[in-house]
Amino acid sequence: MPRSRRNRRPPGQVHVICTGRGVHDPVPFRPDLRMIRTSDGQVRVMWNRRQGPGPVTGFGAADGLETYDIRCGSCGRHFKCHEDRLGIIIAAMAEFQGIRGDDNTPIVLDISLIERA
Ligand SMILES: [Zn+2]
Repeated sequence: MPRSRRNRRPPGQVHVICTGRGVHDPVPFRPDLRMIRTSDGQVRVMWNRRQGPGPVTGFGAADGLETYDIRCGSCGRHFKCHEDRLGIIIAAMAEFQGIRGDDNTPIVLDISLIERA
């Protein structure tokens, strides 16, 4: 029987790709992202720091959140998104893909399928 590792499991692993709306083969981006819920109930989008620096602009917003900035090398699509909006998008993707918080299945985020705000 596998050992339970239920404590501190993040709500969502996020695998970021671009398909250019089906025009090119899926391009995976590193690092992977993940959603976490902080102790005060805030949802934050983080990245896997072991895989390298985060795809963020580095401009510190007044609210302390990041702005994610991902560019596809195949189709040139440029995805730039404030962290709070990205969290809403990821949550919607998780629901659409039927992935719950304690699943180990990653949420797939295709940046080419997200409309600009
Ligand atoms: Zn692309």
